[in-house]
Amino acid sequence: MSNKIGMSFSLTEEQAMIKQMAREFAENEIIPHAEHYDKTHEYPRPVVEKAQELGLTLLNIPEEYGGLGLSLVEEMIVAEELSYGCSGIGLSITINCLAALPIVIAGNEEQKQKYLGKLVDGGMAAYCVTEPEAGSDVAALQTTAVKDGDDYIINGTKTFITGATVADWFTVFAYTDKEKRHNGVSAFVIEKGTPGLSVGKPFDKLGQCASDTAEVVLENVRVPASNMLGKEGYGFMIAMKVFDRSRPSVGSMAVGIARRAMEEAIKYAAERKTMGKPIYRHQAIGHMIADMAMQIEAARLLVRKAAWQYDNDESNVMSASMAKAFAADMAMKVTTDAVQVLGGYGYMREYPVEKLMRDVKVCQIYEGTSQIQRNILVRELFKNS
Ligand SMILES: Cc1cc2nc3c(=O)[nH]c(=O)nc-3n(C[C@H](O)[C@H](O)[C@H](O)COP(=O)(O)OP(=O)(O)OC[C@H]3O[C@@H](n4cnc5c(N)ncnc54)[C@H](O)[C@@H]3O)c2cc1C
Repeated sequence: MSNKIGMSFSLTEEQAMIKQMAREFAENEIIPHAEHYDKTHEYPRPVVEKAQELGLTLLNIPEEYGGLGLSLVEEMIVAEELSYGCSGIGLSITINCLAALPIVIAGNEEQKQKYLGKLVDGGMAAYCVTEPEAGSDVAALQTTAVKDGDDYIINGTKTFITGATVADWFTVFAYTDKEKRHNGVSAFVIEKGTPGLSVGKPFDKLGQCASDTAEVVLENVRVPASNMLGKEGYGFMIAMKVFDRSRPSVGSMAVGIARRAMEEAIKYAAERKTMGKPIYRHQAIGHMIADMAMQIEAARLLVRKAAWQYDNDESNVMSASMAKAFAADMAMKVTTDAVQVLGGYGYMREYPVEKLMRDVKVCQIYEGTSQIQRNILVRELFKNS
């Protein structure tokens, strides 16, 4: 009889090393610069370049194409650490992992060599689904790709695109046949500099100010048919597969932000005294921090389970939605409570917690809002009704 226990909560030696590397990078290269980029909204190019040297922009690119080829569990470990440092800078580093996923999932050998190769050579990429009239409602996309000989002509506007201002190529989703709704969406790779493609100025936003978010306009952009990923009509399926991996990633980002907020709250609550004792000894504050610890732990376990299922070829549709919504909502509460623990100082830019509260809000919005995750859970829970 096997004495193997089929579940482990400890990291392997390799996972522990990856965690250590990401933690050191966050401490040495991200945290010292986070305030600057939050205030200036500049793109953190020097930090991204250092991350590139360690392969942190290539986490999920398979090793045979020059990436780190990490499992999703390992990627989650890195994402938590980078976001602990600054989720805006972390997003600027890891956006390649999102943009590259459609190619990893559906690209042919030539596309993988060419476009993943560009990332390995120091390039960056962006992922373009959302449009001004189509966010949660992907079927409402208005971008079209019309066949013209051996090319497609693409027209449309993509908005809120992370990394757009620095991207060397873009994965773009467009209708090749609108009549077919979900089955009529196709995915393309479009290179920077292709005539008709232009990128707007970065939006001014609430948080994650160290990541750029901009509009991508496509006006009669001619793209060779060889730049299509998979076949005509595969786009929606590709986008859904991307979510299996990207939703736990956002969950992990939220866990990292919340952990940082809790640590700041612990530090402050141990030092700050009122009525003759450190404030953590007022039960209201102590319990608030105990709740933070419980909620963070629960969210991390959900994120790791969703990632583990993905790595083991099990469906993670439900766990990915649970992990994303639970972790994002949890982190919103934890960061808001951390501001409360710091009182008036928590509200001041001088302390890091108000930034964490601003930064985390978007975790409830992108990669499917918290409401959309619940819709998915309802759909799955009632599918036999
Ligand atoms: C900083 C930032 C970066 C982003 N980066 C990218 C990127 O790189 N690439 C990309 O493609 N997109 C990106 N996005 C876009 C993001 O994915 C969308 O904003 C998100 O999917 C929500 O779409 P929306 O903004 O159109 O809101 P809407 O879909 O209009 O939703 C508005 C509100 O209505 C709710 N709602 C909508 N439909 C339903 C429903 N059926 N049931 C219940 N509630 C509903 C939503 O939950 C939300 O609260 C980014 C967004 C932000 C803010």
